[in-house]
Amino acid sequence: MYQLHLFNLIIPFNYQKPIYEGFILINTKNGKIIKIGSQNDVFFINTSADYEIYRHKNSICLPGFINNHIHLAYKNNYVIAKPNQQIEWLKNLIKTSRNWPEEDKQEIIKNNIQNCLKNGITFIFENTPFGKITATEITKSPYKNNSLIGLEVFGNSEEQSQFIFEKAIDNLNQLEVEFKDLNFTLSPHSIYSVGSSLLKKLMQWAKTNNKILALHLAEFNFELELLEKNYLNPDLKEFFEFLQVSSPELKNNSSQSTMQYLLNLATELENTDLLKNFLLIHFILTTDKDLEIAQRFGLGIVSCPQSNLFLQNGLPDYKNWLKYNLPFSFGTDSLASNFDFDFLNQLKNIYWLLNCQLSAQNLFETITSIPAKQLKLEAEVGSLEENKKANFIHFELKPENIAEIKSLGEQDLYTWLLINLNTNLIKQVFIESKPIV
Ligand SMILES: [Zn+2]
Repeated sequence: MYQLHLFNLIIPFNYQKPIYEGFILINTKNGKIIKIGSQNDVFFINTSADYEIYRHKNSICLPGFINNHIHLAYKNNYVIAKPNQQIEWLKNLIKTSRNWPEEDKQEIIKNNIQNCLKNGITFIFENTPFGKITATEITKSPYKNNSLIGLEVFGNSEEQSQFIFEKAIDNLNQLEVEFKDLNFTLSPHSIYSVGSSLLKKLMQWAKTNNKILALHLAEFNFELELLEKNYLNPDLKEFFEFLQVSSPELKNNSSQSTMQYLLNLATELENTDLLKNFLLIHFILTTDKDLEIAQRFGLGIVSCPQSNLFLQNGLPDYKNWLKYNLPFSFGTDSLASNFDFDFLNQLKNIYWLLNCQLSAQNLFETITSIPAKQLKLEAEVGSLEENKKANFIHFELKPENIAEIKSLGEQDLYTWLLINLNTNLIKQVFIESKPIV
């Protein structure tokens, strides 16, 4: 009924200090942490048969990582986006993926789930146009109670906005009935694939139902051209014709930035608080004005740097995000625009890229406590604390490593972990107390 895990070092996060020679006591019935602390305090543990004791040698324990943006139903189709030819890449992705039979899609989703798990990811925010297939696979996996599924909504047609909105709600309601344990929301795909009337309806729906709207924003140049120059790229027009759906509307109030556009929609609805439900995905091609609006309304940002590089969109201006004090988390996006789900590697690269301006501790928080807050799930996941889920990663190191880190101060310890931990050192991953890797 109880598990007692003993580690040489536990990093709980969320403003708590690292614990050397620590323990985590878990109630296996509900998969939650009962108590966490130093082994010096474990005087209350007796040899009762109710306890399973795990003494992990040369071990470090971290909270499981949160992947705040992924699309499980895609795989790498080995099409590299060339600069300014991202529309071609999008077209290729849709062309190939729409022809995959259901069994192939299931296989791809299953593989991606396994891949995430072995990288220490214990919670995912999945975004998909294939709600039912994805929900079926997630429900069979450890992500069943550890995911949010955003059902992607597309539709530029003004006349059909009410119809598309109702269809999306119907789909959501049906899936909620069929998959009672799963959590769903609606994800408006982007401002070039969702018309303003439809987006406004989704904004009101999210506010009423306290839901998060993940929106790909300021990712591509053609998106900005549409907003700022009122210019519809002919390739984009051709792309929507190929899909046999309406092309993006020209945004008549030209020379506006992406955030100003969203703010205008909220203002038209006479409630600027409607902005607060957005989670901004990518947010690369931004102005200071965008950052200022994001800061004013306390919006969450999810960065997917590997995908941004893959698609030749460049990287976000992280240093400016720091200046505006914008909290951000990380996602992997799909394997169509990425080669792995390895957050540890990604964090290292960002650390060097930012000339160490973001501390190692802050970087670890971008895949643990910060996304948990953005998803309003900080009471359940994102750090190792009493009453939270026992979602954690067990790293096994060499004995000399353990001796070495004991002499480090707190910040140096985080830096050491950032530089030295890698996925090969992951021995086990636990979700709600169950070992899944
Ligand atoms: Zn995406």
